[in-house]
Amino acid sequence: MGYFTEIYFFDYKFIILTVFFAVASCVIGIEFSKKVRIVHGKGKSLLQGSALLAVSFWLTHASVAFSVDVPFSMMAFGIYSIVSLFFCFWGSFIALKISNLGSVTGKQYISGSILIAISILGTDALGYSFLFHDDMDWKVSLLIVTGLLTLGCSFSLFRFLIQITNDDHVGIGKWKHIGSVAAGAALAGIPFITLISIIRLDGGNAITPGMLTPFIFVILAHLLLMLVPDLFGDRLLLKHSHAYKSLFNHNPGGVFSVDLKGNVVNANEAASRITGYPNEELIGLSIDSFFDERNKQAINVALHNVLDGRIINIETQILQKQGTSVNVRITPIRSMINNQMMGTFAIVEDITEKKESEQKIKFLAYHDELTKLPNRSMVKNEIAVLAKENTHFSMMLIDFDRFKRINDTFGHSFGDKILIHIGDQLSRLIGSQGIVSRIGGDEFLILVPSAKNKPLAESIISEFNTPMLINGIEVLLTASMGIANYPAHTTNIDDLFKYADIAMYHSKENGANGYSFYNSAMADTALNKLDMENDLRAAIENKELMLYFQPKFNTVHKKIIGSEVLIRWKRDLQGFIPPNVFIPVAEESGLIVPLERFVIEETCRVISDWLEKGKEVKRVSINISLITLLQEGFAAYVLEKISEFHIAGNLLELEITERVVMKNEDDVNSTLHKLREQGIKISIDDFGTGYSSLSYLDKLNVDILKIDQSFIRNIQQKKEVISAIISLAKSLNLRVIAEGVETLNQVELLRYLGCEEVQGYYYSPPVPIEEFERQLEHKYRFQNA
Ligand code: C2E
Ligand code: CA
Ligand code: CA
Repeated sequence: MGYFTEIYFFDYKFIILTVFFAVASCVIGIEFSKKVRIVHGKGKSLLQGSALLAVSFWLTHASVAFSVDVPFSMMAFGIYSIVSLFFCFWGSFIALKISNLGSVTGKQYISGSILIAISILGTDALGYSFLFHDDMDWKVSLLIVTGLLTLGCSFSLFRFLIQITNDDHVGIGKWKHIGSVAAGAALAGIPFITLISIIRLDGGNAITPGMLTPFIFVILAHLLLMLVPDLFGDRLLLKHSHAYKSLFNHNPGGVFSVDLKGNVVNANEAASRITGYPNEELIGLSIDSFFDERNKQAINVALHNVLDGRIINIETQILQKQGTSVNVRITPIRSMINNQMMGTFAIVEDITEKKESEQKIKFLAYHDELTKLPNRSMVKNEIAVLAKENTHFSMMLIDFDRFKRINDTFGHSFGDKILIHIGDQLSRLIGSQGIVSRIGGDEFLILVPSAKNKPLAESIISEFNTPMLINGIEVLLTASMGIANYPAHTTNIDDLFKYADIAMYHSKENGANGYSFYNSAMADTALNKLDMENDLRAAIENKELMLYFQPKFNTVHKKIIGSEVLIRWKRDLQGFIPPNVFIPVAEESGLIVPLERFVIEETCRVISDWLEKGKEVKRVSINISLITLLQEGFAAYVLEKISEFHIAGNLLELEITERVVMKNEDDVNSTLHKLREQGIKISIDDFGTGYSSLSYLDKLNVDILKIDQSFIRNIQQKKEVISAIISLAKSLNLRVIAEGVETLNQVELLRYLGCEEVQGYYYSPPVPIEEFERQLEHKYRFQNA
């Protein structure tokens, strides 16, 4: 038989079919391998892929069996099918599984290739020996060559598969196709050479040259397959090296290349900047030197995860060369070359600024920006913790009397300074015994152990009885405090806040400058700001507010020289509400304007009534808030009223607080001027509480100074100041009156200091009009006069 005819041991139709199935197997292998890599829940894809690959692989080999003219029984075909399908599946599974490991070690590569070779040989050599068991003719030399070729093909095939699976780069499509054809051709050739090696093909045992043709074919196909990864692999490598270079140099973050031992092998400029090590010192440095003990462990765990293929970000701190630490975010990526794990790349970003702003945001969420004290949210959290631990604690709510006036007078920045000062004072007093917070405006809230609430409350109240020195100005701000106990009063946190508030208002009602513990009786008369505002509005409209009069007395002539009108509000359920409680509410809500117009009108009515009855009328003073005074048309309103009631201006006095002067000096002065032109007197109320500088006094259109109660209360310590105020007043031609006079001792000392006009409980508290009329008519004698 001639050389060429010997190829036709095999039917060419089946040869074509075989090549077709072989190439198909390669395509299926590559596609499924990629799919398995991408899809999560790999198990299912892996099995499906393996099954499909096994079938097409098996078809490749089975069609070879039909291409030879050697008969076989159905029974033999059945056994063959089972054996060969088993090997096909097994080989496919191994190939897909290993190529998907991502990083394939040398060992895995070699053993994987050997296993694939075994599965091919199993499919063919073993399978065919079952199929053609009657026509076996083992040609050992050819069989060895077949085995070695199969092994060689397995190596190349597997390498190609791994590379194609893991390096998904654009522009490798062409190589993928060439590779698939080469691999398919090599694969297709193997069953032919196996058949030639083991069965008798035309009765003879001799190895003819024609039999070698398929071997040559397989060798050529294999050669091509071997070249494919190198050809496109080089191109990829080139691309990668460009990519790496730019990743290194143009990365705004520090980039470190670290080997498997944890030593830096390369680093960019930014890396030097972040770590403080010059580049040459960085190289060779162990990454351990960047972390302290605590962070080291976390980093090691993270790196392990990275080497296992997980992608993570680590936020940690690194130690710079100088020993300072920087907040960084590290993104480690394992570095692979030819599917060999080389180490890791780490991209390190300095996140100090981000961290700082995060911390600031976090801080602000739980702190008051002004005083830096905890805020309401933080307090709520703390309370939740205390409640959970079942700690007995007290909530002390502090509100500063007359704080609003300070703000109005000196402006907000001065008010802010006072709040900061108060915060410092409270923190100092409480120290580690509790938590001091500012929960808004001039409200401070303190949590302390219940056992210590009383001494702490006392020390706070007494602390604020001494004036604070702010910007060289003495400010006296007394505190009113309400205390509610957990769990004694309630275990409901919202109620606890409410109760402390109720108790605080109770303190204010009782003349402020003190503390009160909550009790359930208070709740019944609880003052709710909003309700109060609504009721107050109605009270003004319905003229339910009453005027009380407090006489002013001359201690030398022992005569009433005038009176001050003080407003009284009798609220249905609660009884009398002190002005200290509702005047601030009126000021906040703007109700103060109609309220004061009411007082002005009523006072005018009273005076004109007295005049009509032919009584001797002494000057009556009315308290005027800054808000009202600044209202346009205020002077006009007052003048209109005195003319409406036919009253001489000198029967009226307006008491304003000294803060009035600081603001809108010119506007205020022109208003005061218009009033004084008509004989109305102006006095400065609470004099001495605002600020120590008296320099404004000569600029102001006023007649009288009312020395504040706080001076009289501490008259022994304040003698010098009172004396200074009196002499200053005299030099400016102002009259002085002392308010809050409660004892004879005070009366005498004041007289000694040169102040003969007084007002206070020593002579009379504010009284209803009828009683005041009796006082005026001398029918009623002052006990003390
Ligand atoms: P103020 O103008 O300084 O009034 C003096 C306050 O001291 C009055 O309190 C008065 O009852 C009280 N007082 C009088 N003598 C003594 C004393 O010997 N010892 C003590 N401890 N206190 C004494 P009241 O009536 O509760 O008024 C409190 C504040 O409410 C007033 O302080 C004033 O600022 C405001 N107020 C009262 N009525 C009016 C009003 O019609 N209009 C405005 N804008 N404010 C008013
Ligand atoms: Ca007054
Ligand atoms: Ca006063």
